Amino acid sequence: MDQRRPLIAGNWKMNGLVADGVALAEALVERSRRHPGLPPDAAAEVPPDVPAALPCDVLVCPPFTLVDRVLQTVSGTKIAVGGQDCHAEASGARTGDVSAEMLKDLGCRYVIVGHSERRADHGEDDRTVRLKAEAALRAGLIAIVCVGETEAERDAGQTEAVVARQIAGSVPAAATPETVVVAYEPVWAIGTGKTATPAEAQAVHARIRAELNALLGSDAAARMRILYGGSVKPGNAAELLGQPDIDGALVGGASLKAEDFWGIVGAAK
Ligand code: PEP
Repeated sequence: MDQRRPLIAGNWKMNGLVADGVALAEALVERSRRHPGLPPDAAAEVPPDVPAALPCDVLVCPPFTLVDRVLQTVSGTKIAVGGQDCHAEASGARTGDVSAEMLKDLGCRYVIVGHSERRADHGEDDRTVRLKAEAALRAGLIAIVCVGETEAERDAGQTEAVVARQIAGSVPAAATPETVVVAYEPVWAIGTGKTATPAEAQAVHARIRAELNALLGSDAAARMRILYGGSVKPGNAAELLGQPDIDGALVGGASLKAEDFWGIVGAAK
């Protein structure tokens, strides 16, 4: 097995009523049952009780309202389910919030923390993100810790400094490659159709790995997965995923279409 098995994670954001979420999950299950490399016809399917080997880890993060239904739909497959956020505390007077323990209790395996939309819309700073990531670890979830610079920071030449600061402030000291995944998502590339070039993304990923090295040591840094996110599509996925320090993708818009999301899964080898 490779040192870092790729992870393709779909972030559905605030999209989908129950019927939409179940239909999308069913379409992914159907694709997950095909033998990779064989044509998409019935003969190429494996029996439902024998999950096909996937080329990478596959994760979907639906809105909270859909988590339970999607978990039921993907049950028995290799598709994992995660939350898009969690509170730092396990329980209490936190109206509207959901804890990592609650996600774990449902059957989630991952939770995204520190997505730029949470940082911008809910004022989450690095410390808040770190506390949420620590909550994920406490609950037995894998935390996907998101970092990324804004367009203004990029234009000011601050990309690497911003991302290094976010990593130092957001990644728990107890993080291991088994419990934490980092996602580099340049804010200017999210939902805009603009993507960092593979070389640009690789340079930032290498800087992130250096920062992880300083924080967690060389073994953890070498084995920790760093995903790229920002307008990843089937058409650009292979080149991005081919970079030495890009270990998967966090996918927003393209994760809402089974065909596109599975095209990205297929690009991860
Ligand atoms: C995201 O929000 O995590 C994301 C990467 O979105 P998109 O793929 O739509 O740019």
